[in-house]
Amino acid sequence: MACFTFSIVISAVLVGDNAGARIYAKMQAKSCEQVGIAYELKEFSDDISEAGLLGEIQKLNDDDSVDGMILQMPVPEHINARTIQAGIAPKKDVDGVNPANLGRVVMGHPEGAPCTAQAAVRLVEETGIDLYGAEVVVVGHSEIVGKPVALLLLDKFATTTVCHIGTSDVGMLEEHTTKADILIVAVGVPGLIKGDMIKPGAAVIDVGINRVKDPESGKSKTVGDVAFDEAVEVAGIITPVPGGVGPITTAMLLHSTLLAAKA
Ligand code: NAP
Repeated sequence: MACFTFSIVISAVLVGDNAGARIYAKMQAKSCEQVGIAYELKEFSDDISEAGLLGEIQKLNDDDSVDGMILQMPVPEHINARTIQAGIAPKKDVDGVNPANLGRVVMGHPEGAPCTAQAAVRLVEETGIDLYGAEVVVVGHSEIVGKPVALLLLDKFATTTVCHIGTSDVGMLEEHTTKADILIVAVGVPGLIKGDMIKPGAAVIDVGINRVKDPESGKSKTVGDVAFDEAVEVAGIITPVPGGVGPITTAMLLHSTLLAAKA
């Protein structure tokens, strides 16, 4: 029997010494190791210019041994992340941040979507709920989560409503969230969604990752955008934070890298 082996390489670009970005990189490296993907961390000092960083990205674009690339966020203030993201070759953009890949999502190609958006939708699919005509509410309209999630679900014929700061500011958030059979929250506000804002039995996907101080212990802890203790009493299905969308996002990154390598 013939046996084929090939190596898959992902390059992660880290600019400066942001603690959060370094933690993400460590987690990604560990997951890659578990599945046999080579993870190369490319570190640059925080005084690299935007043009200099674009040049480094171009080198990775031209390097045939590199299958996929991720820009770790955040980048220093003098660097425009969108400019750098646009510089990543679409075929190596395994994080789905290049405008071409986001545009392809609009055209019905889900494989180029940002990994977090893919993870949220995958979790929705795993609930087994029939999405055809289902009432889905997405809270948050960022380019990497809310907007692509809404587009991906529209393509599955879910009745998709997107809420954002304007919805909250006019006091209409609860009006929408309580109608949702599936509620996806990606905002970055700890505990924004309370138990009484959830339709009984709904599936709740909490994308938020927020560091807060525990009032009892005084220690920092990670929480989502949904008040979990209240929500778990009302929801039919709910993802925890940590341990919910986060690990699936990493799995989607590995999947996208595999697809990029195969392509
Ligand atoms: P973002 O770019 O800051 O977007 C947040 C969105 O929430 C914006 O659309 C904002 O509206 C909206 N918003 C803010 N306050 C609101 C309120 N009170 N009511 C309703 N909408 C409100 O954030 P993001 O990158 O999408 O990330 C969102 C959360 O997901 C963060 O906690 C982040 O850490 C987490 N995240 C998790 C993963 C993962 O793998 N699990 C990956 C990425 C992000 P405006 O723009 O109009 O103000």
